[in-house]
Amino acid sequence: MNYPQSAYLHIPFCHRRCFYCDFPVVPLGDSARGDHGPGSNSIKSYLDMLFRDISLTPKGLPLATIYIGGGTPSLLSPSQVANLLDHLRSHFGFQYGAEITLEIDPASFDKVSLEGFLDAGINRLSLGAQSFDDVVLNELGRRHSSRDLLEACDLIQDSFKRGRLFSWSLDLIKNLPCQNLVSWKRQLLKAISISPPHLSIYDLSIEKGTVFAWKMSRGELSLPNHDLSFDISRITSQMLKEAGFARYEISNYALPGHASRHNRVYWSGASWWGFGQGATACPWGKRFSRPRTRDLYKEWLVKQELALQRNSLDSIEKVQAIPFEDLLIVGLRRREGVNIKDLSRVLGWDNNQLRLNINLLKMFWEYPLEKGWIKQNGWRFYLTDPEGMEISNQILVQMLRWCEALNCSSSD
Ligand code: SF4
Repeated sequence: MNYPQSAYLHIPFCHRRCFYCDFPVVPLGDSARGDHGPGSNSIKSYLDMLFRDISLTPKGLPLATIYIGGGTPSLLSPSQVANLLDHLRSHFGFQYGAEITLEIDPASFDKVSLEGFLDAGINRLSLGAQSFDDVVLNELGRRHSSRDLLEACDLIQDSFKRGRLFSWSLDLIKNLPCQNLVSWKRQLLKAISISPPHLSIYDLSIEKGTVFAWKMSRGELSLPNHDLSFDISRITSQMLKEAGFARYEISNYALPGHASRHNRVYWSGASWWGFGQGATACPWGKRFSRPRTRDLYKEWLVKQELALQRNSLDSIEKVQAIPFEDLLIVGLRRREGVNIKDLSRVLGWDNNQLRLNINLLKMFWEYPLEKGWIKQNGWRFYLTDPEGMEISNQILVQMLRWCEALNCSSSD
């Protein structure tokens, strides 16, 4: 049995909820902190639950990647992060050189707390920048200003240069309301001038129940149209390529040696542990999520503890194998694409079926293949950059139609 070698820990607390966000977060107010003051009791009792959650898990292989995400995990104090890592280390052990990432937001840490996080063992940071423009930050409902962001970048870049960090990433959002090519280029140039070794650039997506969804329903959001959004993506790929970044996944760019090892685990279909409210885990290729609310998570923990006493973890009994189409979707986002032969093992196709099914897939993908938006190399298919990656949604939809035609869903 191959035990996971990666772990995701979810810290659901934020100062406040941003206007586009539908994550399972608990807004604690602008002055919340983990060690004392507003919100600290809530954070402490949550960490106790997280420790219990970790203890419930079978001990397996030492971890190679750990990702503390949220939420705003930098609301935790350095000693809370150290405790969390100690707990994880004593349960699983860490491999030499393990990548340990902390998501961090501007205006939620200073020089002292940053040093504390690094002393605790964090060696990679992911900074939620989103934009360098104060008007945009305000429209997104973010708490930080561009000045906070630049200060955060300075502190992090200084730690990176001193060798205290293996790497760090800066996150931006594109396709925002009223964004145009000129304003987006300005954002990118600013990001490039700061020289983070990794950039994640996500498209804004409008999620149900958010302020943005409400504004959208009232016609108050003017989002870039298809052509502008295509131009924004094209220019992003081009400018970052010229700056030395490789696009190793649709939304992720890295300088050589700085691709996120943890994220590659998700995209490769490998297993990982997941801990905390709303966290998704995928041990042994079987995926399940913990409850998204605090009360339900608490109940779930009690149930699991009782089940453990009976020697049967309920969660493991009820989980689903990752569907074949999901493996294809995440795999095709990567620069190296997907090896259909490898993935189809879960479906038990023999070589003859594989050949017939791939011929059918090529009929669904006839146009993008002819245009050179998808390339084939043996059993492997991959999207070209930027053309294929820019129209990835259409290509994925055609692929899902193929799955539907084959009725291919993986069995447990
Ligand atoms: S800081 Fe991040 S997780 Fe928290 S509300 Fe904003 S977008 Fe969501």
